[in-house]
Amino acid sequence: QAQSARLYTEEDPVVILSSDSLKQTVFNSSSAWLLQFYSSWCGHCIQYSPTWKALAGDVKDWAQAIRIGVLDCAHEKNFDICKEFGIHFYPTFRVCFDSFRADRELQTVRQLMVNFLQNHTKQDWPVGCPPLDPARSEDILSLMGKKTEFYTAVIVEDKDSYIGREVILDLLPYEGLAVKRTLSSDKLLMEELGITSVPSVYLFHPNGTHTIMNVQKRLRFFFSSFLKLLPGVHRKQSTSSLQRPQPGNNGQGTQVEWKVFEKSKVYMADLESGLHYLLRVELATHKTLEGEELKTFKDFVTVVAKLFPGRQSVVKLLETLLEWLVSLPLEKIPYDAILDLVNNKMRISGLYLGEQVQWVGCQGSSVALRGYPCSLWTLFHVLTVQAANRPDALANTGFEDDPLAVLQTMRRYIGTFFGCQECGKHFEEMAQESVNQVKTVDEAVLWLWRKHNQVNARLAGSMSEDPMFPKTQWPTPDLCPTCHEEQEGLHVWNEQMVLAFLKQHYGASNISLKYSS
Ligand code: FAD
Repeated sequence: QAQSARLYTEEDPVVILSSDSLKQTVFNSSSAWLLQFYSSWCGHCIQYSPTWKALAGDVKDWAQAIRIGVLDCAHEKNFDICKEFGIHFYPTFRVCFDSFRADRELQTVRQLMVNFLQNHTKQDWPVGCPPLDPARSEDILSLMGKKTEFYTAVIVEDKDSYIGREVILDLLPYEGLAVKRTLSSDKLLMEELGITSVPSVYLFHPNGTHTIMNVQKRLRFFFSSFLKLLPGVHRKQSTSSLQRPQPGNNGQGTQVEWKVFEKSKVYMADLESGLHYLLRVELATHKTLEGEELKTFKDFVTVVAKLFPGRQSVVKLLETLLEWLVSLPLEKIPYDAILDLVNNKMRISGLYLGEQVQWVGCQGSSVALRGYPCSLWTLFHVLTVQAANRPDALANTGFEDDPLAVLQTMRRYIGTFFGCQECGKHFEEMAQESVNQVKTVDEAVLWLWRKHNQVNARLAGSMSEDPMFPKTQWPTPDLCPTCHEEQEGLHVWNEQMVLAFLKQHYGASNISLKYSS
């Protein structure tokens, strides 16, 4: 069992089934199921598990139509069910209970899933699956000039293309948009819409206008990302989150002014508000700092004081705080003394960190969403980029030549002080798994980006997701088109481009002082 627990865990985007749950879950489901019966001791299964996890992640948004499950036939309690289903070889794949021969390339399996869904929707099953057949041209043409409550995107493609069906499934958990597909063999429609090359997406706006959608690359990921980011398109929410306050409402009936901002910028107001919250609220819950806690705090102040590309009054404040911490021979510091320094002594000498939170790029549609954790991610991304851009900044601190300086400090801060303990636990697991593989400051920038995306994937659709700011794999194609590529039908990152983008985005010159008073 220990072995099987290692092949797939609850963290993976697959449903782990057992003899107790298989029939109940699959027979009573409104979606179809693609199942892998595996054995935890089989070498093939072990080798194949990363592909299966990648596939499950790739089609996570299709869950309303088809879900991915795994069942370990090597587990004693599953012996009978594997026998009942006649599983002789591992791995064996089944779409619901129809066997199929998957040649196991991720793209092929995904296409088999689409074929299966398309054939079965004709018999009205599974109920969660939308129509995948091409729409009639008259239905599409009738949308011209018509005002509606939502967008309609029409994907025009060749007969053999899967993009249209894949994008329809990708957008299943989203509302505010209908996605249809049609074929390039429909010459009249092509002419009416003015489409000369395929695949293309034609977009009918709610206000009755219509245009060809411009994307940098004609790839599934670009089409899907673009549509998910249209204003008014967002992930369907559970009933409780639908009761969330609207933008600008702080949840207590008071209106908070909405600040217009650009998502291609980083805001000093977020970084300073984050530091304010961290120093005056989060840490202030600790009466005294001693031992490991004190060391973690000192290291945190060192890294921030040396690397934070802030306004002079704030950087000076951090440097003064650091000098004070380093000069103190004490083993134990009352936190009140630190607060006193930050709040009073420094203000007298003109060093000042604002005492109010002012979220800009991190503002949420309600007070409970975004804000502090968003600013903390932003701060640490900025710090990893500064460490890469200014290799000498940490000279004489004990951190010189250490590519892990920022990441290890962040890890210890998050594990020791960050108010969300679950977050700390998850982050620690990720760090234990791979942070030691980081050998350069550039790799540190990429490591944090990769782990942040892993967290985004895990939290997509969860209660902590702000419907106005859906968790996506970031940077989205509109922010960095060259970061995205496709290999054998699977989305891949061009990491060199991602690194260049991160260095620009989180670089000192991209930090806006707008709204910083
Ligand atoms: P955030 O995820 O906070 O991102 C902030 C901004 O960073 C985004 O707006 C975007 O501009 C940019 N960004 C997004 N992705 C990336 C990336 N890959 N690389 C670089 N920049 C990026 N919440 C939980 O519910 N469970 C958890 O386990 C959990 N773990 C966390 C661990 C850490 C270390 C931190 C700091 C936070 C954690 N949170 C967790 C909180 C959660 O990740 C979000 O911060 C929170 O939900 C607010 O989300 P957001 O929409 O503001 O975007």
